[in-house]
Amino acid sequence: MTRPLLNRRLAEFGTTIFAEMSALAARTGSINLGQGFPDTDGPEEVREAAVRALRDGHGNQYPPGPGVPELRTAIADHQRARYGLEYDPDREVLVTAGATEAIAAALLALVEPGDEVIALEPYYDSYAACVAMAGGTRVPVTLRPHEGRYVLDLDELRAAVTPRTRLILLNTPHNPTGTVLTRAELTAVAELAVERDLLVVTDEVYEHLVFDDAEHLPLATFPGMRDRTVTIGSAGKTYSFTGWKVGWTTASPELTAAVRSAKQFLTYVSSGPFQYAVAEALRLPDSYYDGLRADLQAKRDLLSDGLARAGFTVYRPRGTYFVTTDIRPLGADDGFAFCRSLPERAGVVAIPNAVFYDHREAGAPFVRFAFCKRADVLQEAVDRLGRLG
Ligand SMILES: *Cc1c(COP(=O)(O)O)cnc(C)c1O
Repeated sequence: MTRPLLNRRLAEFGTTIFAEMSALAARTGSINLGQGFPDTDGPEEVREAAVRALRDGHGNQYPPGPGVPELRTAIADHQRARYGLEYDPDREVLVTAGATEAIAAALLALVEPGDEVIALEPYYDSYAACVAMAGGTRVPVTLRPHEGRYVLDLDELRAAVTPRTRLILLNTPHNPTGTVLTRAELTAVAELAVERDLLVVTDEVYEHLVFDDAEHLPLATFPGMRDRTVTIGSAGKTYSFTGWKVGWTTASPELTAAVRSAKQFLTYVSSGPFQYAVAEALRLPDSYYDGLRADLQAKRDLLSDGLARAGFTVYRPRGTYFVTTDIRPLGADDGFAFCRSLPERAGVVAIPNAVFYDHREAGAPFVRFAFCKRADVLQEAVDRLGRLG
């Protein structure tokens, strides 16, 4: 057989860097700050709610296609209470197998072969693969460091729109840079979408992980955006249960029906008992979110300060649980080589940001560390990195 097994759409996507780096961490006994998953579970009462659902037989058989009503209502209540956004739980909320399926279903539903999809670069790795599976063409717009923060170049964004542009795939708070898009940036995105009649799929899984005085502003709250925006959320990041894979979309009835058309043939349904538990999690009091933010902000500072002392240039994030660094002050400029040697040199694993770029050279000197780990683990990582210089 001369024809390759993997089809042309997916040929460029080998195994993810996370697999390589996690294997390297295990082999060398390194602290893994590569992949972004918490090393402690979320609230006990939410875990107990899942146990209760399992025991009581809630969700052990196929739940309804759009998600269990309790969860859809809780999602709608959350969007109203937090952001003043009204969604009908029956026609405008869809539960998915994590944000990952929501992204895939939205792109498979809304993109025709040949359509262009604008995404902020560096981007979450599933975006490129999902655009490819949908037969679309990705058009990256590069976020660039400016005065300590990654910023969106609005001229570059405007210039990226062509008659073939179908949608903008947005992500705020942004993984991996930790940028939280500002009101001015989001206003410009909204005005452009309205002017050029574009859809927007906005990945807001880090909506609750914002620090200092940063504020998460859902794109759907901007003028003209509610009915052209698919907003994606997830329980994984907000409640520290990444293994449960409960995500969702909120959007107009027409957009929700379209996304559901694709979703029903991907997983159909998932995570039955966990859906009931997440419905309860969404009703946690403000003190939960305040505690989560305070805890992560302290960890951000622990890791960021340690990385700065070790000689990295640090882009202190205003959201997410990742910190992006520049390795050039350490005399290196190739993030791949740096990350491959870091376990040997310092017993720590990180991810080269270049994997999140089409313009690999634009990402070459940047390296991402996750801080959703126990404080003692971060302290040990910082101590080890301190011996680099
Ligand atoms: C983690 C992550 C996801 C995936 O979320 P799941 O709910 O685990 O599928 C999607 N987008 C971004 C930006 C992420 O960091």
